[in-house]
Amino acid sequence: MTSLVPLLMVCVAMLFSAAPPTPPAVTLVYDADVVITPDSGWVEAQVTLRYPVPADDAHGVALLLNHGLTIRALGGARVRAHTLRPSEFSPSWNQLDVAFADAVLPGDTVAITLSYAGRPVMPDDGINRITPAWVELGIDSQWFPLVSTFAQDITGEVRLALPEAWTVVGSGAVSFENGRHVLRNHVAQVDVALIASPSLQRVRSASTEVYHRSMPNASVQAVLDVAAGCVQRLNHQFGAHAPFPVARLVLAERDGPGYARKNYIVLSTVNVDAVEALQQFICHEVAHYWTRSPGSFSPDHWMSEAFAEYAAAMVVREQYGAEAFARLRARWDDTESAAVWTPTSTQRPSYQSMYRRAPALLAQLEERLGEARFSQVITRYMVDGITSTAALLELVTSIGGAETADWFRTALAA
Ligand SMILES: [Zn+2]
Repeated sequence: MTSLVPLLMVCVAMLFSAAPPTPPAVTLVYDADVVITPDSGWVEAQVTLRYPVPADDAHGVALLLNHGLTIRALGGARVRAHTLRPSEFSPSWNQLDVAFADAVLPGDTVAITLSYAGRPVMPDDGINRITPAWVELGIDSQWFPLVSTFAQDITGEVRLALPEAWTVVGSGAVSFENGRHVLRNHVAQVDVALIASPSLQRVRSASTEVYHRSMPNASVQAVLDVAAGCVQRLNHQFGAHAPFPVARLVLAERDGPGYARKNYIVLSTVNVDAVEALQQFICHEVAHYWTRSPGSFSPDHWMSEAFAEYAAAMVVREQYGAEAFARLRARWDDTESAAVWTPTSTQRPSYQSMYRRAPALLAQLEERLGEARFSQVITRYMVDGITSTAALLELVTSIGGAETADWFRTALAA
């Protein structure tokens, strides 16, 4: 798998795409006009954020923005003041503290308008960039103002000034209207992530779009088939109430990690000969559409990764048989790791514990329960949006009995 997509799982998606500890009742809605100058890296933006004021803080909100970007104006009828200071998260970000008027109450929506411009200082991640032929932006460049908790779901519309011949890809649909590429995102995300290039081509099926620059047709078709298969198979099992939207994959054809934002999946280098690994990777990302985490740093976050990994392995098993599944399992088993979860855990477990040890334990759980009852567990986990290990153990108890749940609890802590 490493030859396919080196450690793709250690991605910004893993760190930031999880749901917050207490999911916000309301989504922030943005509306933005953005000018990007590919030749110089210059960005100018005029943004309105409609911020849903949470129950625990009606005084204001802290936003993050790249420190290469200068605020030209900030206001709003219910905005009292703002201050700017270096962010504690990254030396290349600033924190913008926006103070609300005294009359603002929890549950209100406060409109914040800001305009900013400059040349964002790009992180050293090999991903974010503005170049004459490739623009790739997301949370790590903090090019777009985001709430500093990294946990605020956002949807909205960005009108992007780039030449008409360019292709823009993000989680939402894009159309060219009045001289602008309009990206409308209805799937709640943690950031505004997009790729734009003059040389992107699109290949599509009913459920899936694949964008690339120079991949051979057969390779692009292989990726399209694998992705469409993941969407169809996982939608069938988990999508009754929340069907997967159109999957948009970009074959970035570059080094560096891939990442995913629910239905927007970016692959760096792709080896279509390693088709099982490709399927495992894409299905893992597709499965995240239904996983819910109490927060990326929570001790319960392991479930999100382990169930995504396992759901993908189940698709591989259906497609390529027991031997292919056994190969995945051998990789999970061949791992030294600390406990996945104990009732007193306070931190997210290690990568090995979440991506290897925990799926290995799910395989053992499936053996104990049998395929039909295990299928009920994983479906309920996805569809009910379970976010705590305690709730999962209750679910295992209800489907498999107290003895199996006790075994599972002990195994997680071993
Ligand atoms: Zn993942």
